[in-house]
This record gives sequence, structure tokens and C-alpha cells, in this order.
Amino acid sequence: MKQKKLFRELLLKWHYGENKRAMPWKGEKDAYKVWLSEIILQQTRVEQGWNYYEKFIQQYPTVIQLANAKDEAVFKLWEGLGYYTRCRNLLHTARVVRDNYNGRFPSDYNAILNLKGIGNYTAAAIASFCFNQPYAVVDGNVLRVLSRFFGIENPIDSTEGKKLFSKLAQECLDAAGPGEYNQSIMDFGATVCKPVPVCRQCPLQKNCIAFNTNKVGILPVKEKSIRKKERWFTYFVFSYKDKTFVQQRTAKDIWQNLYEFYLEETLTDPAWNHQKIKHWLHKKNIFPSKETVIIPAKKQVLTHQVIHGYFILIEPKTLPSALKGAWLSKKEIKHKAFPQFIHQFTGKTNLQLQFL
Ligand code: SF4
Repeated sequence: MKQKKLFRELLLKWHYGENKRAMPWKGEKDAYKVWLSEIILQQTRVEQGWNYYEKFIQQYPTVIQLANAKDEAVFKLWEGLGYYTRCRNLLHTARVVRDNYNGRFPSDYNAILNLKGIGNYTAAAIASFCFNQPYAVVDGNVLRVLSRFFGIENPIDSTEGKKLFSKLAQECLDAAGPGEYNQSIMDFGATVCKPVPVCRQCPLQKNCIAFNTNKVGILPVKEKSIRKKERWFTYFVFSYKDKTFVQQRTAKDIWQNLYEFYLEETLTDPAWNHQKIKHWLHKKNIFPSKETVIIPAKKQVLTHQVIHGYFILIEPKTLPSALKGAWLSKKEIKHKAFPQFIHQFTGKTNLQLQFL
């Protein structure tokens, strides 16, 4: 108990004296803004999320305005952030808050937790920052700080570890000022006790068990590292008379609802060459008017999968009738949201699709 009290006191002393971390949503009491910032920051770096947060607040200053927006417009604004389930949940929850709560976020922790896309961490952040409720946030930053300071070697991703750390986080919380406490541990984990920590400047160093037992490098312990699935996406970019073929991803998979070019997915590297492409096109009754162009894609690493691929540029002699999708002009394409994987290609080549 003494150690927890000491931890809390040292942490808050650092927060009020040395914590200089600035963010536009810091100190915010409006649950809509806190919620929006938390959803944007899930799996996104603060530097990148900051810009998106400001764009969203400018475009949709209230949850009702967001709820009333068209899906396509919100997806377009979200474009580039990735993990599009977050964007779908964002819209869904905004509409639930508009329809079931008169456009005001509920203040009860469990009611907040029941909203789609909100987990324990975000619910605790909203409840503590906006409604002064005593719920401790627990995320990777918090787990790292706690496991090091208290020298706990239980894996943070084991069932037993999760329970133990949630209990410890809750016991360390300053019930009189839960919002400030949560902010301080989040900032401390992001700026001092980082994955590579700055122990030499750390005011908790004298009492930190990991530091004093030389275990900083091995804590926190993780039970399993995720094995990522490898996927190969070949995008055939068909252009015919100033129009380009695009289709919408409708399946329950990554990038659902976003647009893409014609896709051929394989489990291994298809190692395309001109002969192979000619053969592939021939089977589909498509005949190019000039030599095709093959561009290897830069791989994209997602949480559970790695996407590799190619972009193959084709200008067919006649409109390929077998393709099910839409042929859009440059202007029309500009209003559609595409995954980042496709933007790495359109942004970096001098080819005809640079306009995207
Ligand atoms: Fe983290 Fe190092 Fe401070 Fe311990 S001494 S809390 S490991 S930064």
C-alpha cells in the first residue's frame, strides 16, 4: 500500500511540476471531443492524430453534426488513418448518442462502455476526464510503467496478468482527481517511461524496482507475440478513355467500404512478369493497347497482417465488360476514400493516376 501511495505522489508531483506534453484535447471536458481524440489515437501516433482531430472538430464541431454527416464524407476525412472499423464505429456511436441520448454523451461508465467502439480504456478516459469518475485507464503505456515501477514479471497479456494489472491500476488511482491522475500516467508512459526509457531523468528512479534490480530491459513481459498473416494484393489499374476502374470493398475484411482497383489476391508472391500478365489478361478476354507497367508495392504492416503487392497498369483496347464495378473520371475518384496502401502508389509515381 505504501509503495502505491508513493507511486501516486511521485507521479502527480512530476505531472504538476515537469509534464510539458501539449495536445489540443488535453484538459478537455467535452465528452464528444475526448471520445473523438481517443478513437483517432487508437493505433495512431499523436503527431498524425493531432491533425485529423483538428480537421474533424472543424468540420463537425458537435456529435450531432457528425451523426448527421454522410458516411462517404466522414470516410473521406478519415482517409489515411487506417483501421477503418474505427470510422464505422465512430459514425454508429455518434448516431446512437444523437438518437438515444439527445446528443449528449452518457456520464455513467457502463453506459459509455456499451457504446460501439469504446473499450475499457476509452470509457475510463471519458468517465474520468469529463465526469470525474474514479476509473483508471489501462493501456500499453500504463502497463509498462506499472510493471517496471513495481517490478512485476507476470505477462501483461496473460489472463492472470490482465487481472492483476487492472487491480493495481485501480488501486494506484487518485480517486479525488481521477482525470488528472490518468492524464499523468498516460503522459509519463509516453514521454519518460517509454519503451526505451529515460531513467536518468526520471524522478521515480530511486523507488523503481525495475531500475534498482536491473530489469528495465526485460519489463514488461509479454506471453505471446502476434504472428502476422502474409497477404499478396495485386492491383490491376485499368484505364480506358480517361476513366479508371474502381470497386468498393464490401466484405468483412480490412478496408471495408473503401475503394480500390481491380484486385487479385494470392497467398504467395505472384512474381508477375509481362508474359504472365499477358496470359492472365488473355483468359479474361482483355487485350492491352500498349505494354503493361509493373510496379512492386511497398509492404504495409497492420496489427495482424502484412500486405505485399503490385500495381499493374493496363490500358485495354476495348472496355472490359466482365469487370464488376465502376469506371470513374479523375474528378469522381477524388471524392472516394482509398486505403493507404493504394495512396503509397498514387502519391509516389508519375503515372497517370497521380491525381488521386
Ligand atoms: Fe521507468 Fe526508468 Fe523511471 Fe523506472 S526509472 S519508472 S523504468 S523511466
